[in-house]
Amino acid sequence: MEYGRTYNFSAGPATMPVPVLEEIANEVLNYRGCGTGVMEMSHRSKVYQTIIDEAEADLRELMGIPDNYKVLFIQGGATLQFAMIPMNLLKNGVADYIVTGAWSQKAYKEAQKYGKINLVATSKDRNYSYIPDCSDLPIDPDADYVFIVENETIHGNTFWALPNTKGKPLVSDQSSMFLSGPCNVSDYGMIFAGAQKNVGPSGLAIVIIREDLLNRDLDPKTPTYLDYAIHADNGSMYNTPNCWAIYVCGKVFKYLKKIGGLEAMAKINEDKAKILYDFLDSSALFAGTVDKCDRSLMNVPFVTGDSEKDAAVVAATKAAGFDNLKGHKSVGGLRASIYNAMPAEGVEALVEFLREFEKANA
Ligand SMILES: *Cc1c(COP(=O)(O)O)cnc(C)c1O
Repeated sequence: MEYGRTYNFSAGPATMPVPVLEEIANEVLNYRGCGTGVMEMSHRSKVYQTIIDEAEADLRELMGIPDNYKVLFIQGGATLQFAMIPMNLLKNGVADYIVTGAWSQKAYKEAQKYGKINLVATSKDRNYSYIPDCSDLPIDPDADYVFIVENETIHGNTFWALPNTKGKPLVSDQSSMFLSGPCNVSDYGMIFAGAQKNVGPSGLAIVIIREDLLNRDLDPKTPTYLDYAIHADNGSMYNTPNCWAIYVCGKVFKYLKKIGGLEAMAKINEDKAKILYDFLDSSALFAGTVDKCDRSLMNVPFVTGDSEKDAAVVAATKAAGFDNLKGHKSVGGLRASIYNAMPAEGVEALVEFLREFEKANA
C-alpha cells in the first residue's frame, strides 16, 4: 500500500481517507499561506472561524440537517454524551433505553445516576447478536426520550428500522456509523457521534440536537461545559474547542461531498460489506455472529468457534499486514471494522487471505 501503510481494521481510532491525510500533511506547517498551521492558530481568528463554519455547513449539506437543529462540536468523546444526555434532556426525570450491546449498556448505566431509567428492550439473552422487535415497546408516558446505539461497534448489529418511540424524541448514538449513508435527521430528537470511528481524530463528539430539546432550566449545579445550550449559544466555542479535530472532520465532510455524498458512500459501504459477508456465509470455517437481518455494514465480528483457532487467525492476519482484527473480548474471535475510509481492496485482500487460511487449515 502507498506510504507503507497497512490495511487497518481498527474499531477506532480508525483508518482515514488517504487524500484527506495528504491534504492535512500539506497544510500542517502553513495553512493556506496564513503563516501558521491549524494546530497553532487562535480559535478566535477569522481563519479558524471559516474552518468551523465550513465544517458545519458541509455537514448540514451532507445530512440535510433541518434549520431547527443545532450542530455542536463538544469535547469528551461519545462517552461524555452518556452523561450530558440525561443531565440535559430529563425534565420529567424518566427515560427509556434499548440495550443492544456494550455501548448502550454503558449509556444505560450512566443515565441511571440521573433519573428513572427504564430498560424497554434488550438482546442480552443472545449476547446482543440481534436487534429486538421495537415496533410496540412499553414506552413510559413520562419518558423524556428513548435512547439507542444505532450501530453497536463491539457486537456488530445495526437498527435497519428505527424503534417506534410513540412520539417521544429518539436519541441515537451513531458513533460507528456516522455518515456511512443517508440519514433522515428529522426522525430524531438528537444524534451524536464520537469522531474517531468514521470522521476524524478522537476527543470530539458531534451533536445534532433539535432546538426545542435545549434545556434552559438545568439544575444550577450542572457544570457549565455540560450544558448544550451554552455550546449552542456560543457556536461551539464557549471555551477553546478541539480545533484540530474539527478541522480534520471538515476535510472528511468535503471529501464525502466530492465522492458524491452519503448515497454514494452507502453504495460503496454495501458493496464492501457484501464481499466479507458473502465469504463468511459460504465459509466452512468462519461464521458471522449477528443475525443476517441485523448485521452492521461497519463492524463485522466473526468466529471459528474455537478460541485457539481464532487466536491463530488473528496472529496470521497480523503477520500478513492486516492490522487490528482481534475481536473484542466480549464476543471473541475476530472483528473487521470496515468504515467509510476502508477501501474495497482492503476487504478483498482480507477475504482472499482468509480463504487461503481456510484451505490450508481444512
Ligand atoms: C467508541 C464508541 C463510544 C465511545 O467513544 P469515546 O469517544 O471513546 O468516548 C460510544 N459509543 C459508541 C457506539 C462507540 O462506538
